[in-house]
Amino acid sequence: MAVKLKDYENITGSKVIKEIRLLGEKLKGYIVLHINSTAVGGGVVEILKSLVPLMRDAGLEPKWSVMEGTHEFFNVTKLFHNGLHGQQVIITSEMKEVYLAAAEKNRYLLDENADLVVIHDQQPLGLTAYRKGTSRWIWYCHIDPLYAVPEVWSFISPKVCSCDLAVFHLAEYARNLPLLQYFMPPAIDPLSDKNREVTPVEYQTVLEKLGIEPGGSPVILQVSRFDRLKDPAGVIRSFKLLRKNKDCRLILAGGGADDDPEGKAVLDEIRELADGQPDISVLALSPDADLEINVLQRRADIILQKSLREGFGLTAAEALWKGKPLVVTPTGGLVYQVLHGKTGLTARTVEETAKKIAYLLEEPELSNRLGAAGKEHVRQNFILPAYLLKWINLLFLLKGRR
Ligand code: UDP
Repeated sequence: MAVKLKDYENITGSKVIKEIRLLGEKLKGYIVLHINSTAVGGGVVEILKSLVPLMRDAGLEPKWSVMEGTHEFFNVTKLFHNGLHGQQVIITSEMKEVYLAAAEKNRYLLDENADLVVIHDQQPLGLTAYRKGTSRWIWYCHIDPLYAVPEVWSFISPKVCSCDLAVFHLAEYARNLPLLQYFMPPAIDPLSDKNREVTPVEYQTVLEKLGIEPGGSPVILQVSRFDRLKDPAGVIRSFKLLRKNKDCRLILAGGGADDDPEGKAVLDEIRELADGQPDISVLALSPDADLEINVLQRRADIILQKSLREGFGLTAAEALWKGKPLVVTPTGGLVYQVLHGKTGLTARTVEETAKKIAYLLEEPELSNRLGAAGKEHVRQNFILPAYLLKWINLLFLLKGRR
């Protein structure tokens, strides 16, 4: 049965739910068309899976369409993705043609009756060429665009400018754009299979299935798509340093996303790096492994997010929600979740990461304190109903500017 707004009251209190109901009533029937480029894998899917049904429960009419693309298209958009994260890339005119042709093919996804079209990330931005009617358009950027290389930014920014508004996760991601910009970090769904409480039987069954012992040496975990920007190689190097003095195990768990063609190659690299290390488990999960991730996070003693760049990093919020101590790179949205010394620890290098993990292993009381504060921090700031309320405020803002 679909989760309803009222189901969140125990977690968030009733005030935010009442406010959503009140404002949602005034937006009854407002059609919001979300467009992204994959139905499985990654943070955008995680957000939409929970946000869309709740928007509906609030009275709006949300729709979610997924762009279809060829392997060639996703190779191009992954290159754009890397370029937006600051990697030097060469963009050829053929690549631009592939990108624009995919938009042409997907123009049928557009709905002139939509009050609002939300383009998630850069892959569907080519659709702006087919904008018509009275719908308002938002570009929702889920990554950290601060280091975007000009080769990519100069190609996509005119398309962003065809929208009415750009949304970024953080105010510091603001770009020099001639349109309104709005900032809202995303949120996790505490009632989804990924984050809800699990029963002892579920816990046991999932660990058995994954071949992970329920007890024994401490477990260090990172959950991420297999992407070099999540620095899985750095995680393994940190672990190898740590392992010289500490008895512990590392689990690197992840999967791919349909719109990420590099996943397989990165997984092969990780497996090669981990080869011959009996204390390292590399788990390639299926796209619907929500309960598995939930259980792994609950099994872990310390959770890492050693990303080199991170728009927000939902995996960190998910881990904090399980009351775990985290060690993360102080980058992008991770800095707002893991407040150093309060809700976890930050570390910049491989060596520092190993040291901080060792420190947490030696200080279980501190670890518990950080974990508990982290859970509360997420409850107050990064939980779904409050995120929906921010969306609703944004919709009013757009309506008011008509
Ligand atoms: N995720 C998943 N399976 C995996 C790896 C990741 O379901 O194998 C989920 C993860 O739990 C989180 C989302 O995908 O909810 C990743 O979001 P995040 O913002 O951390 O990073 P992104 O992948 O969007 O860069």
